[in-house]
Amino acid sequence: MDKIKTKIGVIGGGASGLLFSYLVKKLAPSTVEVCIFEKNDKVGKKILATGNGKCNLSNANLGAGLYNSRFGEDIISKIDEKYVKNVFLELGIITKTDKKGRIYPYSLSANSVLDALYEANLNLNNKIITNYEVKDIKYENKMFYIDEFAFDYLIMACGGKANTKNNNLIGEILTKFGHKWVADHPGLCSIETVDATASLNGIKVKANVSINNHNFDGEVLFKNNGLSGIAIFEASRYVKSGDIIHLDLMSEYDEAALAKLIPDLKTFNHTFPKMVAKDILARANNDLNKAIKIIKDYKFSVKKLASYENAQIMVGGIDTDDVKNSLESKLVPNLYILGEVLNVDGTCGGYNLHFAWASAIIASKNIADGLK
Ligand SMILES: Cc1cc2nc3c(=O)[nH]c(=O)nc-3n(C[C@H](O)[C@H](O)[C@H](O)COP(=O)(O)OP(=O)(O)OC[C@H]3O[C@@H](n4cnc5c(N)ncnc54)[C@H](O)[C@@H]3O)c2cc1C
Repeated sequence: MDKIKTKIGVIGGGASGLLFSYLVKKLAPSTVEVCIFEKNDKVGKKILATGNGKCNLSNANLGAGLYNSRFGEDIISKIDEKYVKNVFLELGIITKTDKKGRIYPYSLSANSVLDALYEANLNLNNKIITNYEVKDIKYENKMFYIDEFAFDYLIMACGGKANTKNNNLIGEILTKFGHKWVADHPGLCSIETVDATASLNGIKVKANVSINNHNFDGEVLFKNNGLSGIAIFEASRYVKSGDIIHLDLMSEYDEAALAKLIPDLKTFNHTFPKMVAKDILARANNDLNKAIKIIKDYKFSVKKLASYENAQIMVGGIDTDDVKNSLESKLVPNLYILGEVLNVDGTCGGYNLHFAWASAIIASKNIADGLK
């Protein structure tokens, strides 16, 4: 007679759900049965969009200050990029690392990553049900029920709201179980400003961007209705409507040094792109001293963040206080919460996918160990 297997339901066939499902089955092949529910017609659609289609899947520079929370840092301290690279190597994915430490599949194609994860699940006979949006979960006598399906373990790997139609179903389900939801907003996105930027549209500058005590050095791209570029993306994790974004266009000099370096309007005009110089001078009423102050503090008032459809991540989500370091819920035994639906967000450079993989690795090992 066949041994009764432990049934594991996984909500979400994205980064964390696909990796978790493969790993848990690999670690406990004769003990578990895995079923993935994916609301889209295909799994892993978001993976294909990552890194401009190249999938920046991790980063060689892991450390403090890259995530919003201690919880995120604790998780990555257990699973570093070498661990993740080895997991992908087993899946047949060789990686390469660029000068900034960003790790990509050697193919520079997100398709390779998704194919490898998908095939690994199929090879282990994990069940994948697409076009199936989980709308409710029942929990009775230590079993989880999704319609007619019953599970011993349930894995929430449903991601955040970014790049989706802003659906908070899973957040609602999890809060029904008592988990707290930290207010969310789009992150790693452009910012609409109250101050007009149309005349600067398309211009890129290097700047130090500061917002609410956070500082980022990098490119700022002016858009028709606000600011974009990598430094703004990073700052967006800390921004809300009404905040003021400060750009320092020459952060290597202090104001006194700039006054010497830029003695006249001619020099000023040749130091910045023409329209930027014009905008600053208009704000300064053509007063060079005032213009120099603006170089160090070019202010933009935030109207709003870009919509979720145009953001890379969700900031906020399930409160990590309600989750153990094994990723198991503190409130409901055998319920695990992975990836971006948790209130863990990282900066640009592969850190968000790294967290998704790391959470999947830890949870799969914890469950498989418990079944031994
Ligand atoms: C354009 C873009 C570029 C990005 N680039 C990078 C990058 O280069 N590097 C990086 O580290 N991060 C990047 N990110 C962020 C990264 O993609 C996410 O952080 C990561 O995918 C989160 O993994 P996850 O498993 O938590 O969720 P996801 O990968 O989003 O997977 C969640 C899955 O759950 C499904 N789902 C949701 N609700 C339900 C439901 N009720 N029933 C059934 N299925 C459901 C979704 O359809 C989805 O397939 C990018 C994001 C975007 C949008």
